[in-house]
Amino acid sequence: VVKLEAREYELECTIQDLLAVKAELERANYDPLTHLPNRVIARDRLQQGVLHAKRNSRQLAVLYMDLDKFKWVNDNLGHPAGDELLLQVAQRGLACIRDSDTLARLGGDEFLCVLPNIDGQQAAEDLAQRFVDAMNQPFTLRDGVAHIGASVGIAMYPLHGTTVDQLIEFADAALYFAKHAGRNVYRVFQVEDAGDASASA
Ligand code: GH3
Ligand code: MG
Repeated sequence: VVKLEAREYELECTIQDLLAVKAELERANYDPLTHLPNRVIARDRLQQGVLHAKRNSRQLAVLYMDLDKFKWVNDNLGHPAGDELLLQVAQRGLACIRDSDTLARLGGDEFLCVLPNIDGQQAAEDLAQRFVDAMNQPFTLRDGVAHIGASVGIAMYPLHGTTVDQLIEFADAALYFAKHAGRNVYRVFQVEDAGDASASA
């Protein structure tokens, strides 16, 4: 009986260790608020997607999304309401994409979407418009209703860039132009934009 109890104790310790490792992996790879993948996984999926697209001569799209006037929610309805809204943004975003796509939260009100094996730029634009439309619907929160919106930048592989860093940078540059166009729209990266956004950011 003593031996059995000792064995049980050992097993219990092993389970606790495994749970601790699981929690650590979760923290390293997922956003604790929305449970979406974080930047680490987003970059990894993008890298895999680029390799896959290269091998199969396919295209891939990266969408960089930033909410419009999100600070209004924090300032007027409170930070917890902002958190609640971010959760709903994650749900609406996931409803726009396929299981094989990745929606990640980069931090704050910034999200990255990786669309491997996309049929072309028009399909990426259609999805970006769906994102914009989805975020433009009112958000019903515990402490009130929020009307915000989202701006989206698109970069395509291989048309605009061929590396993870280029694709993210160019989608971000396109987002900058979407914001400056008045928000609540998407913009596709233009090669001549490359210097402009970083120069004036
Ligand atoms: P813009 O239209 O130019 O994008 O303005 P914005 O109001 O959306 O503000 P911006 O994107 O510059 O900043 C995002 C804000 O999100 C800043 C920060 O106070 C807030 N924020 C960042 N992380 C969190 C979070 O986890 N929860 C909440 N509630 N707010 C956050
Ligand atoms: Mg914002």
